[in-house]
Amino acid sequence: MTTTACSTSQTPCKSWSWPKPDPPAPQPPSGEVEFSYNPQDRSVLDAGTTIIGGVGAGPTVEKARLNGANPARDGKYVFAPGEQGFVGALAFSSVARAIKIFEEALGEPIRWAFNGTQLRINADAGRDLNAFYSRQGKSLNFFHETDPITRQVVYSGGSGEVAAHEAGHAILDGLRPGYLGAWSPDPGGFHESFGDVLAMLVCLQDDRCLQRVVEQTGGDLSIPNLASHLGEELGTAINNSTGRNVTGGNYTRTAINNFVWQDPSTLPDKGGPDQLGRAVHSYSRLWTGSFYDVLKGMVNSNREQGMEPFQAIRAASTEALKLYGGLMKTAPRGDHTYRDMARALVAADRQYNNGARSELITRVFSDRRILNGREDGETPSFALADARIYQSEEESIRPQRVLLQGLEFRQFDGAMVDNLVDKSASIIQEAESVDRVKESLKHLIAAGRILYTDPGKPISEKDLFDPHGRPYTGVVRWENGQMVIERVKILSTR
Ligand SMILES: [Zn+2]
Repeated sequence: MTTTACSTSQTPCKSWSWPKPDPPAPQPPSGEVEFSYNPQDRSVLDAGTTIIGGVGAGPTVEKARLNGANPARDGKYVFAPGEQGFVGALAFSSVARAIKIFEEALGEPIRWAFNGTQLRINADAGRDLNAFYSRQGKSLNFFHETDPITRQVVYSGGSGEVAAHEAGHAILDGLRPGYLGAWSPDPGGFHESFGDVLAMLVCLQDDRCLQRVVEQTGGDLSIPNLASHLGEELGTAINNSTGRNVTGGNYTRTAINNFVWQDPSTLPDKGGPDQLGRAVHSYSRLWTGSFYDVLKGMVNSNREQGMEPFQAIRAASTEALKLYGGLMKTAPRGDHTYRDMARALVAADRQYNNGARSELITRVFSDRRILNGREDGETPSFALADARIYQSEEESIRPQRVLLQGLEFRQFDGAMVDNLVDKSASIIQEAESVDRVKESLKHLIAAGRILYTDPGKPISEKDLFDPHGRPYTGVVRWENGQMVIERVKILSTR
């Protein structure tokens, strides 16, 4: 019904309609909500969908929130590739799923290393072939870049593996904040490996992904497959953009390798596809390859028990998650070596998995020369007072200050380095940690991984990245005229 009304004051006469009743405001989806989801990279698997529980407006879940405007459509976050909202839905669903799966493995809710309950997800924060977790930023950050050969735009947030890897950094940082205060290649390498192993196990918990692995391998995990290869699309774009095969194949990393332990001080910095390096992304491959061998051994033994490949791999991935959950009750809390971690894995298997895989773990890690046989594996490195997962820093780790003295430290000669050791570390272990700090800093300084800053100059998060977009490992802070090097609490995919 249309009518005309004229006001008696200065406002002009105008035509108007009786307002129609407001349509009910669209309720943001909540509860169980369907999302676009890809446990993999689109170059090896098309996106499907998954149901995420406990979803609130945003979308959010209890532990994570997607930043930016992400309107739902028809009560779902399901979009076609290329549509607005697609990458955000993929990044969010991957992170939410990784969190949920690891909470189940752990048997209790995870907590973050930062103050706050929700991890923020920036699904597309600009141009780069990378992704990173920032403790201070309380966030996971993903990027996009055009692959110069395929001309396709590669979104790191669109890869379920890259997203789960970054979620892994945030989860491990909450469980073991001390690792981002330590300097040996081992805690850093374990952090990178943790993300890769989590991405792999999350993929194997997904029916479509697992089905493809079965098709590719017939149940023999020594055959390369889409779960053992991590970050296929990003890795391909990295190789295409550098014009060289820097990663060794169409992936950022692969879990299939034959690396054996060597004293990190004797290793080159970056390494290469077939050469272990001491830089964390390279050194991580030794732990990932070893744990993948354990997973493979579990699948083989499940097969021998008569399980079909699908069931054998699913059961092994569930058991591997349980082992990693147990490891978070036995693992060292500060600086450590892979040997310490392998001993903790044996202990976790004994305590939380009935010792079912202790022999396998010991054999694999001895073959990799990380352990030195059975007795070595059964010798715990640190005497943990109790097995509570979350302990305050005061009760679990001890700060240590290490003085750098000598020309090999260049402009950092005379600096103090903040390091964190396990509270139960012996005097000998503390001394070994000091040696590792000095050795690591020498290499990190030579590799340009420590950011020098002038006294009094404020540092923003942006400054903590080198011109190639990689986070520095350490940064200088000044304390009453004393140069102090602290660990940068940002971890990237590459
Ligand atoms: Zn990483």
